[in-house]
Amino acid sequence: MARTHLTVAGARLELVRGDITSQADLDAVVNAANAQLQTGGGVAGAIHRAAGPGLARACRPLAPIAPGEVVATDAFDLPNRRVLHALGPVYGRDEPADALLAACYRGALELAAEEGLTSVGFPAISTGVFGYPLEAAAEVALTTVHEVLAAGSTVQLVRFVLFAEADLDTHARVLATLPDT
Ligand code: ADP
Repeated sequence: MARTHLTVAGARLELVRGDITSQADLDAVVNAANAQLQTGGGVAGAIHRAAGPGLARACRPLAPIAPGEVVATDAFDLPNRRVLHALGPVYGRDEPADALLAACYRGALELAAEEGLTSVGFPAISTGVFGYPLEAAAEVALTTVHEVLAAGSTVQLVRFVLFAEADLDTHARVLATLPDT
């Protein structure tokens, strides 16, 4: 398989296969949220189950959020300090999809930096129920994170946590097109 990590301006960008709720060494994990910031299928369901009911209570006053928006809460029973809730675009409905998806990644990294968080885990936002084609989403996601890190960020580790082996392979192929600096 193609490589699964890059160094960008001293920061590490890496890909792993795994579960976003089991990343105990990361300061923050990103939730592929819904507009109401409540539990659901996929990532949102897993994050709310693992965090416990405090998470839904913390989310309530922050909802609804718009596509491309990111908000932060405590992580409750998750092994991280914070959860960054990002609402990805519903593919075919929320336009421009690529700019809205990029805003999720950029916004999460900016919010992490503001909060002094130096390591962040992302799922493949919008590629589940929201229907964004995986390879196109991986291109937006990795290019955006690469740009933010290349510009100089206090975030020093970004981990893409991919649920399926095929998703990891697709991300690795896209990663191989980006410069290692
Ligand atoms: P969206 O609604 O933004 O499309 P989903 O949660 O439906 O988000 O899915 C986003 C991606 O996350 C999909 O590729 C899905 O397979 C994957 N996924 C689902 N559960 C988890 C998990 N626990 N950890 C990491 N990735 C997950």
